[in-house]
Amino acid sequence: MGRRRKAPQRLGGFTLLVVTCEHASNAVPRGASVLLKGAGSLLSTHRGWDRGAPPLARAMARRFNAPLFTGAATRLLIDLNRSLERGRAFSEFTRGLDPLARALLADRHWTPHRDAVTEEIGREVDAGGRVLHIGVHSFTPVLRGVRRNADVGLLYDPRRALEKSLCAAWLAALATAAPGLRCRKNYPYLGTSDGFTTTLRKRFPPDHYAGIELEVNQRLLRGGDTLDAALTRNLLGSLAQALRDEAQEVQGGPRPGR
Ligand SMILES: [Zn+2]
Repeated sequence: MGRRRKAPQRLGGFTLLVVTCEHASNAVPRGASVLLKGAGSLLSTHRGWDRGAPPLARAMARRFNAPLFTGAATRLLIDLNRSLERGRAFSEFTRGLDPLARALLADRHWTPHRDAVTEEIGREVDAGGRVLHIGVHSFTPVLRGVRRNADVGLLYDPRRALEKSLCAAWLAALATAAPGLRCRKNYPYLGTSDGFTTTLRKRFPPDHYAGIELEVNQRLLRGGDTLDAALTRNLLGSLAQALRDEAQEVQGGPRPGR
């Protein structure tokens, strides 16, 4: 790997932020409607896409001047945030397709997203940079009758120090910015479950890649499919604060004794 470059202050100890939104769309691509003809109203639910996640991802990319990669088709076709192993990326509508048809779906929709993001991160890591990848998602307030008791979740791998410390700093900043918000670590899913960040962690070393998933409860959506403006501001402002706090850590300022 190349020489470490000086990190821009805006991103703390990171040299690049990459924002992704795997479940940004519930569109059914031309030619795929026959596969999803039984999906009907499922398309507009959390099974079809992550309501509220795309505008949040766009706002994050704008605020931090970050490249943004979004899914363009419903995850009922193929899920960009699941691996192809053992057919995990396929839904009940596509799992039973023959291997060639599944491979075609992967070639058309899954691989281009995965490759584009991996290449963007790879270029920066190869140049000695340190990449923060944030995957933006939303979750349904009630799943199989159980009410989720959090508003925001940050998913990460607790064994990766960069991820752990940034998430702690982000949650601390959020608690100050929005004291009423219920925020949890690795909820409603574990950051180490099958997902795009989990795949990327196998590829990029912990000092050069931090993969975090931001999960927002769809209960907080206002006016259709957009998050409350104040919440969006608080989520992004607290991330900026966390990055500033982490930058001071990296620069090794005076620390309180243990
Ligand atoms: Zn999602």
